[in-house]
Amino acid sequence: MTKKLDFSLLKTLTGLAGISGREAPVRQYLQSWLEPYADEIRTDTLGNLIVYKKGTSDKNLLLCAHMDEVGLMVRYVDDRGFLYFVPVGGIDPRTLLAQRVRIQTQQGPLLGIIGTKPAHITTEADRAKAVPMNSLYIDTGLPAAQVRDLVQAGDSVVLDRTYEEFGDNRICAKALDNRAGVFVLAQLIRAVQNPFYNIYAVFTVQEEVGLRGAKTAAFGINADLSFAIDTTGAADIPGSSPQDYIVRLGGGVGISAIDGYTITPQTLFESLKQICEEQNIRWQVRVAPRGGNDAGAVHLDKTGVPSCALSIPTRNIHSCVEVEDKQDITAVFQLVLYVMQQGIAGIK
Ligand SMILES: [Zn+2]
Repeated sequence: MTKKLDFSLLKTLTGLAGISGREAPVRQYLQSWLEPYADEIRTDTLGNLIVYKKGTSDKNLLLCAHMDEVGLMVRYVDDRGFLYFVPVGGIDPRTLLAQRVRIQTQQGPLLGIIGTKPAHITTEADRAKAVPMNSLYIDTGLPAAQVRDLVQAGDSVVLDRTYEEFGDNRICAKALDNRAGVFVLAQLIRAVQNPFYNIYAVFTVQEEVGLRGAKTAAFGINADLSFAIDTTGAADIPGSSPQDYIVRLGGGVGISAIDGYTITPQTLFESLKQICEEQNIRWQVRVAPRGGNDAGAVHLDKTGVPSCALSIPTRNIHSCVEVEDKQDITAVFQLVLYVMQQGIAGIK
């Protein structure tokens, strides 16, 4: 059961550019990586990548992991060549100051810098003020005419940060939300042998802007059970109290009881905890006062689908320094692999 995961795939996935609605680079990479392990593979109208693997029962298990990452979109190029942008997904503008980004132009990626006024010309009162998103700009270092040739309003922009492993089992990268979930789902498709359920692994689009891809994907699959494999904010950091942690880094798979969109059915919640206990998989309860994931869309499909989010704890979520623990990622993999193979009480 203790399978060693090859994290080099996660490094590659976090390096790909794929804000909401612009997931093609991630989808194309996954499609060729997964083809050898799939019974069927297809892309639907919205861009969800759906991988099917036949099971030994007639029950369908829908597994979602969203491909999109939070990012930016160019809204205006000014006459000096500075770029203005809108956020795509929930980003705190404070995390963008003094960061590198990559603009995805028609001619390829272009490096840019999100500038910030130096302390030399600001007052203490200026520095204490909030940073409005519409005051931020990207500097490409190029002459205005050249910028206008290369960059168009509507080009997507991703945060630029290399994947690093550090400390004790820790990873830091951009887009760990949710390439870590994508990584787990891809590894599951590769690893599973003769699953109990018919497996529909859906790499969804546009989760960060309102669970849009999961909604259409679920409609086309008559799921008997569903899991969203996603990240969740771990607030176990200085300045926050234990009652606000949501989950702890290194505490194992976050089995969701409730979030802003979904309440896990009690029998499913209890069965998942029991499997973790019996199989020696590290787990913790996730109680999130806000936010959601693909389970929020899937559980309301048709007459309803028993659904639970299985979450990877993530510090500094939605920033370019998202941090995760490899053991938590492995715990999610182990729990879902067990359910795929053995089925789960109540939904067999
Ligand atoms: Zn997410």
